[in-house]
Amino acid sequence: MVVGATGSTKYALEATSADDLWLVFGLAAHDMQSSDLQAVSLAYYLHIGRVMIDKWHTRFMEMAKLVSLWSKDPSTKTGGVIVRPDRTIASVGFNGFPRKIADALEFLNDREEKYKRVIHSEMNAILNARERLDGYTLYNWPGQSCSRCAVHVIQAGISIVVSPELDPNDSFMRRWMDDMILAESLYREAGVTLIHV
Ligand SMILES: [Zn+2]
Repeated sequence: MVVGATGSTKYALEATSADDLWLVFGLAAHDMQSSDLQAVSLAYYLHIGRVMIDKWHTRFMEMAKLVSLWSKDPSTKTGGVIVRPDRTIASVGFNGFPRKIADALEFLNDREEKYKRVIHSEMNAILNARERLDGYTLYNWPGQSCSRCAVHVIQAGISIVVSPELDPNDSFMRRWMDDMILAESLYREAGVTLIHV
């Protein structure tokens, strides 16, 4: 470990457990000036804040995963959760046919026919919401939005999108990879914050 205010601050920011942080505090208290201690304390609180935010991302991502299971799509089940800035839930959605359109297996099992009828989870979450979504956060499971959803998410005013990391080894993501990369570039251009968990 690097000892000294800068090194310890960096270590505190990168620490992954409370035990690691207490170790930094111990070294800081032993070796440093009070100004250095302040720097490490700040890093400590930034770290705790980051851990808290990560916990909420994990919770809502687990919820998006749960919602995805409601889908009747035999190939890919996707889920979306739209969350207000105060961490209450505004809306959820999964991929499926519109209300009053039968979930007929002959169409669910025929990709061409399915694509004509299906509403993606992001779009369903937007359409299910009963309020404006400016500044809200969208959680996507199991991958990133497609480009068509991305333009609608942008237009709805959603400002943060949380999704799993793009993974070429995942068969679903591999099928959509080029479009997900385009979606991410559209999100970036529109100033939407992307978070991968
Ligand atoms: Zn989509």
